[in-house]
Amino acid sequence: MIVTTNEYVKQFQRYVIGNYGRNPIVLVRGKGSYVWDADGKRYLDMFPGWGVNGLGHCHPRVVKAVQKQVGRLIHVANNYYNKLQGELARTIAKNSFGGQVFFCNSGAEAVEAAIKLARIRGGNKHRIVTMKDSFHGRTNMAIAATAQPKYHKGVLPAAVKSFTYVPYNDIAAVRKAIKSDVCAVMVEPFQGEGGVNIPSPDYLPALRRLCDKHNILLILDEVTTGMGRTGKYFGYQHSKGVTPDIMTMAKALGGGLAIGAIEAKPEVAQYLLPGTHASTFGGNPLACAASLAAFEAIKEEKLLQNARSIGNHMVRRFRAMQKKFPAILDVRGRGALVGVELDRNGADLFKLCMQKGLLINCTHDTVMRFMPAMTISKEIANQGIDVFEKALGEYLNQ
Ligand SMILES: *Cc1c(COP(=O)(O)O)cnc(C)c1O
Repeated sequence: MIVTTNEYVKQFQRYVIGNYGRNPIVLVRGKGSYVWDADGKRYLDMFPGWGVNGLGHCHPRVVKAVQKQVGRLIHVANNYYNKLQGELARTIAKNSFGGQVFFCNSGAEAVEAAIKLARIRGGNKHRIVTMKDSFHGRTNMAIAATAQPKYHKGVLPAAVKSFTYVPYNDIAAVRKAIKSDVCAVMVEPFQGEGGVNIPSPDYLPALRRLCDKHNILLILDEVTTGMGRTGKYFGYQHSKGVTPDIMTMAKALGGGLAIGAIEAKPEVAQYLLPGTHASTFGGNPLACAASLAAFEAIKEEKLLQNARSIGNHMVRRFRAMQKKFPAILDVRGRGALVGVELDRNGADLFKLCMQKGLLINCTHDTVMRFMPAMTISKEIANQGIDVFEKALGEYLNQ
């Protein structure tokens, strides 16, 4: 029988493919903003599940909904109807732009579906404009859409060539990139992995107008920014009058369970005819039950408001910290998506925080990223920020 962390890690290293840089803790249990490792040590998790656990770990409403559904019906095939899939599609549409939904199981799959739909509608137009420092997932096509060459090892050159990369938050560059073979522009309303980048308020409206003018699609990748993360159900809702033609969702959509989706305006969705696209697991009753419970939690527990007020509070505290530590170059955020940019690499600061019992993320080399559970209290958030401040002080003095 396996007992120690060392033995768990050894087993892993022998039998699990080593495609992740893993940190040497084994997580065994979670509740709210806390997780525990196999040695019983507790961590304050301010980056739960890379954004999947938007409601924190094991939210009671999600746990209950899954427990209820798992003994009734786990999976049925998509050549039949199931009640929960329709109900979830309606819930997504009601909280966004009234479109139609296709379900899959992950962010990259949602991006794949969006790209395919845009290209089918585009006819002989196949090119899609995407943004530098974007992140769209790891399947061959999704990673080709991701305008970060460091991720392109082993990706088909032909796939990469069907995207045009332009700088983020640069409308003139998009205008120039829209040639006769372009069928869509794909963009994150706020970039997460690319360093928590907040575009100017007129960026999305200008993109919308540009796409309308050329009769091409605006695809918004809301895999990270969706499901309340930024203080609205979806990131685009911060931009008045803007709706996407296609929107991707995943990460927090299932309250922790694996689910992905695209929503498209009906006049666009109609191009996905029977036979054009499918997902065996997509929209299964269990994942849909969890996602419906997540929507209910956001509404009943007023979590959008909490994401906004916690996020604003965190930004204020980090900005105050900036006076003490000039190594903090910038503090950026929207709702509960917050980035602290340093003048140096932050990978070891992440490790130091972990040793001190705080889980965060370091992205784009220098940006410390916080995406706490939307359920987090100000008191617990403050505890995390205090640990970060202490760790940063030690880190800078080394
Ligand atoms: C995480 C992410 C993806 C990929 O999602 P997976 O579930 O890992 O495939 C795509 N787009 C954005 C914006 C993401 O943050």
